[in-house]
Amino acid sequence: MSLETSIERRSLPLERPFTISRGTTAETEVVIVRIEDDDGTVGVGAAGPASHYGETAATVEAVLPDLLAVVEDVGDPAQLARIEWRMRETIGRNPAARTAVSIALHDLEAKRLDVPLYRYWGLDPSATLESSYTIGLDDTETMREKTADAVEAGYGTLKVKLGTDRDVEIVRTIRSAAPDARLFVDANEAWTPREAVETIDRLAEYDLAFVEQPVPAGDPEGLKFVFERSSVAIAADESCVTLEDVPRIADRCDVANLKLMKCGGLREAWRMIHAARAHGLEVMLGCMIESNASIAAACHLAPALDYADLDGALLLDDDPVDGVPMPGGRIDLEALDRPGTGAVPE
Ligand SMILES: [Mg+2]
Repeated sequence: MSLETSIERRSLPLERPFTISRGTTAETEVVIVRIEDDDGTVGVGAAGPASHYGETAATVEAVLPDLLAVVEDVGDPAQLARIEWRMRETIGRNPAARTAVSIALHDLEAKRLDVPLYRYWGLDPSATLESSYTIGLDDTETMREKTADAVEAGYGTLKVKLGTDRDVEIVRTIRSAAPDARLFVDANEAWTPREAVETIDRLAEYDLAFVEQPVPAGDPEGLKFVFERSSVAIAADESCVTLEDVPRIADRCDVANLKLMKCGGLREAWRMIHAARAHGLEVMLGCMIESNASIAAACHLAPALDYADLDGALLLDDDPVDGVPMPGGRIDLEALDRPGTGAVPE
């Protein structure tokens, strides 16, 4: 089978600048991949590269030809497991680039079968989740306003970025602006283990579902120290990148935060979900700031998760790709009326 492929790099401005403990982003770059088969069926995927993990749009563009050559060489786009394996053997790093190809091929296969991707995975579209909507760091009053806007827009689950010298004030303010919301907080590695224990002690009264990545990923003993002393559940994100990390974090957190752009493909994410469960962890699927060209695929795994943090496209000013409907953050797979991931570029 001969396949036509194309690669398109896009700069996407955010609705407003997004700040976490490590820095501010005003614009994100994604690389959209299209793979078309002999019948004219087109699979769409994208990379949302993260510099924290060593990738940029330029590195994605640089390795995509080699990854697409692997697809050509395997010769059968339905052999998704083999293709993901061979891509990883060929380009060990660059997980976002591999994920772009994985998503495009899964979209193509589901379209060829004329089913939405969740049905290809055998999942129940009614057993879906509400994604969190993230409140980035800002001055406390602006964070209060953003929270009020999010509640007004119907978001019932909020994720609050922390890692400042006023974290307790921020959470107190947000909790009062969103008294009924389910709240996640994410320190993005900002605290020392002792700071984390003290801060979490003071945050516990605000009814948090979990505290994400309290300490640096490079300090696994610190994560264990916090986990053993925390009255709030602990999630691992930067500490949980690939399948091999799952057993390493199993005795030092409650929730594994997986991301397609960290792990390198949809099948690898599927394996991580089950590995995490086998280790007694709850599972969250998160994202980078991404377009629906990749977020839509992640949405189809929602019925297999405990938590979803898939607001990447909701933070964009104008996503050029339509995806799975997410009113108020609720991932509405049943409302999807087309096969594949549902990603439709303008
Ligand atoms: Mg995180």
